[in-house]
Amino acid sequence: MDKRFPIEDQIEMLGAMIRGRVITPHHPDYDSVRMVALAQFDRRPAAIIRVANAADIAAVLNFAQATDLPVAIRSGGHSTGGFGVADGALVIDVRDLNRIDIDVTGQTAWAGAGMTAGEVTHAVEQHGLIVGFGDSASVGIAGLTLGGGIGYLARKHGLTIDSLLAVEIVTATGDILVADEHHHADLFWALRGGGGNFGVVTRFKYRLQPLPSFTGGPLVFPPTPEVIAGFAALADAAPNELTAIAMVLPLPPIPAIPAEAHGQLAFVAMMAYAGDPADAQRALAPFRALATPLADMIQTGPYSSLYMLDPPPEMRAMVAVRSGFTSRFGLDEARALVTAAQSCTAPMSMSQIRVLGGASSTIGNEATAFAHRDSRFMVTFLAMYGGGPEVVAAQERWVAEALSSVVPAGNGTYVNFLGADEAAAGEAAYPSATRERLARIKHRYDPENLFRLNTNIAPAA
Ligand SMILES: Cc1cc2nc3c(=O)[nH]c(=O)nc-3n(C[C@H](O)[C@H](O)[C@H](O)COP(=O)(O)OP(=O)(O)OC[C@H]3O[C@@H](n4cnc5c(N)ncnc54)[C@H](O)[C@@H]3O)c2cc1C
Repeated sequence: MDKRFPIEDQIEMLGAMIRGRVITPHHPDYDSVRMVALAQFDRRPAAIIRVANAADIAAVLNFAQATDLPVAIRSGGHSTGGFGVADGALVIDVRDLNRIDIDVTGQTAWAGAGMTAGEVTHAVEQHGLIVGFGDSASVGIAGLTLGGGIGYLARKHGLTIDSLLAVEIVTATGDILVADEHHHADLFWALRGGGGNFGVVTRFKYRLQPLPSFTGGPLVFPPTPEVIAGFAALADAAPNELTAIAMVLPLPPIPAIPAEAHGQLAFVAMMAYAGDPADAQRALAPFRALATPLADMIQTGPYSSLYMLDPPPEMRAMVAVRSGFTSRFGLDEARALVTAAQSCTAPMSMSQIRVLGGASSTIGNEATAFAHRDSRFMVTFLAMYGGGPEVVAAQERWVAEALSSVVPAGNGTYVNFLGADEAAAGEAAYPSATRERLARIKHRYDPENLFRLNTNIAPAA
């Protein structure tokens, strides 16, 4: 690139060198394309490059190194640390890498890194197959998979990374590699939990599992500590076919909920049973007996029907989030969770328990860069709100205090649910041995730390 030209002109020239599109602040699409899921990350990158293939990515990385412009990587745009967009950066936007190739007989799929969880789920469930992502259809498979992936099949089939067979990635040098158990095995280990530190992923190869029948949906209870603690004990002891994500939240005004309960706090347990419908009813019976449900919307149907409804872009909110792992969730923790939920001043909040164990815990902590497999629960607090800096501070304080009232400090945090102010350091996301191994692999694949707008692993020899 000819440095005699202003940087804006150099960026325009980059557009002529690639198959994809370069979107600068003058472009009519700039504002909609730079928007991410969390409203507080209202940032103005130097350009967003909608790459069309791996060669485009290599060209952008080369350009970034020649111009010293920082690089952000964006897929589904749901980063809780706001890493998918940065002021003054070149955003490598992979959303157009959205092709999926399904091998129905071999039960595998190569999915483009720009696809969302919902898109992949819809594509594979047509064939009676599944791979587990998270609870929301609009989350990108890329960010989710690279952090671990904790969703409704965690107990049956493990984390998303436990179904990952291979990754195609463009490294800082512009090399296109395929990493799997046998090729670049260290890199493959690091990509299963180490986030966007090692290159730009173009596609993921997943193992698909047959899912002939699925039963799931919300079971809604009054938010009493006894119900919540009872739920946690039952879900922890349930067959692996059953995974649950449950939360105290203010009930939305939907017809299935009695009108007098709208806006009131309730305990909503999202139940997911991957198996025979009659077995599902047997496994669900003790949960239904915890108390008289306010609503029972569990049904047998497609897995994708369980995804949360995503708000339209104009209703995007600011989000404060904190999570922590724990192996203890009894009556004391349930009481503290309810007290915390009651004290939240945001219009929408979730005080959430994810029940882990099952297949996700049969793999060793050292087997992947996600190293929290011996924790039986993950507790997460989210506040969704709008307003100025004082509101931001109040909600950030609420999530932090709520978490510390339920989960002991030092048990570790999920890298994909780090709050904005803790995300850059991410100390709690990796135990020291994991972080040291990640640093050595980072040194091999990205010694100059080109990929640093993330929960950063500093390269170390
Ligand atoms: C509403 C909501 C619900 C969620 N639910 C769940 C859940 O149920 N389970 C769960 O595990 N997580 C969940 N998450 C967390 C989610 O997994 C992370 O926020 C994840 O980073 C989002 O990925 P993305 O691709 O959408 O985000 P982006 O903001 O596009 O990307 C986040 C980061 O991932 C890395 N990255 C993205 N694409 C690439 C790529 N192609 N190559 C290399 N690095 C890349 C980059 O560092 C990037 O900055 C949820 C988040 C939200 C906001």
